[in-house]
Amino acid sequence: MRLHDVLIIGCGPAGSTAAFLLARAGLSVAMFDKCVFPRQKLCGGLLPDKTVRVVERLFGIHRSSLQDKGVIVHTSNTYRIYSGGRLLVEGRSPRPFTLVDRAAYDSFLLELARTQGVEIHEGQKVERVDPYGTFIETASGARHYGRFIIGADGALGVTARCAANALARERDRRILAGSLDVTLPVEKLGRPVFCPEILLGYVDWGYAWAFPSGRSVTLGLGGLQRKNKKTFKELLNDICEDIGVKRLGETEPKGHPIPFGRPGDRLAVGSLVLVGDAAGLADPITGEGVYSAHLSSEAASAAVIRALRYGGSLGAIYRRLIDRRLLGLLEGAARLQPLVYTALEVLPRSVSGMLVRRFHTRALRVINGDKGYPFSRTGHPDAALPSFV
Ligand SMILES: Cc1cc2nc3c(=O)[nH]c(=O)nc-3n(C[C@H](O)[C@H](O)[C@H](O)COP(=O)(O)OP(=O)(O)OC[C@H]3O[C@@H](n4cnc5c(N)ncnc54)[C@H](O)[C@@H]3O)c2cc1C
Repeated sequence: MRLHDVLIIGCGPAGSTAAFLLARAGLSVAMFDKCVFPRQKLCGGLLPDKTVRVVERLFGIHRSSLQDKGVIVHTSNTYRIYSGGRLLVEGRSPRPFTLVDRAAYDSFLLELARTQGVEIHEGQKVERVDPYGTFIETASGARHYGRFIIGADGALGVTARCAANALARERDRRILAGSLDVTLPVEKLGRPVFCPEILLGYVDWGYAWAFPSGRSVTLGLGGLQRKNKKTFKELLNDICEDIGVKRLGETEPKGHPIPFGRPGDRLAVGSLVLVGDAAGLADPITGEGVYSAHLSSEAASAAVIRALRYGGSLGAIYRRLIDRRLLGLLEGAARLQPLVYTALEVLPRSVSGMLVRRFHTRALRVINGDKGYPFSRTGHPDAALPSFV
């Protein structure tokens, strides 16, 4: 039996970032995913510029290599915000929005991890995680040991449940939003979608979107189902009608949860640390989570390296590193979230529309990573961690 320095569960953006950084630092890393790559991941695929900058810094690549490998399906400096089908804002961002094909993006990052000598086990579902014995068990019954375990298995993975169980036998208390998403060929739409569009006025405590994706458009919505009288499927049909889609035909919309609050509630237990969606680190207002997946994994990797070299509590080191860089920001968003969504829900459309027109450029600066949320302890940290990674 081989003992690895680190076992990583999940080969999405969070898992690949940690694997790449830790293997590059000379650690032996094995990672596991229940799927075989390339695999589909439900996602709008919109990466604000802050995410692309972080990827460039962490993986030492230029964004042109994403373009060369066919990962990028669209870039745009313009964006539109609609309210109930009416155009409210046609804006221009100084930094481009990058739209990626998530299957290609995740495979690309996984291949970068492979180049560092990471042992990759695809098609291996992890069913049991022991954060004290420091082993994992896959569905086939195989047991793997490591000094540390990183839970990067997303919103529905096994590690978040394991951390909640291990800590005071509580339930997993993350708040999860629902989502529904469908990709349609451009010919099916009654009007062109040539830039990212945010569609307000359909979903209470959430929003909808239409994102261009090559010859297709991704239509989706996310939010709290319990705040809405109509089902998400009915709401998606309303959007389709307004956007001129006659019928969805064969294309069945798909759903997946998105963390929607309590960021960082469960970060570590024993020798297990959680990153990305497994740790509930998506932005509580926008639902955007790829940025947090990369940044939290950078912090977790630095914490693992520090704990291996100098000892100390892995969880405490990780919390300290992530607190300065990410939690402060997400907590600011979590504080603002009820204000934003209550205003969109209860104010007359004319008033909420006026507020959107007034504040969208400020929101854009936060989304682009030029500024933190109004009540956040931290701004966006673009610089590398002063660490060992
Ligand atoms: C509809 C929708 C739209 C979104 N749009 C955007 C967007 O436009 N921009 C943005 O930034 N974010 C978006 N997000 C959020 C974003 O997709 C996630 O935050 C991001 O994928 C998190 O990355 P991750 O690596 O933590 O987890 P994931 O990408 O979910 O990866 C987890 C991996 O773990 C594997 N896994 C799970 N369980 C197990 C197990 N038991 N054993 C082994 N492997 C396992 C899975 O197969 C998967 O490969 C969206 C989410 C949804 C649902």
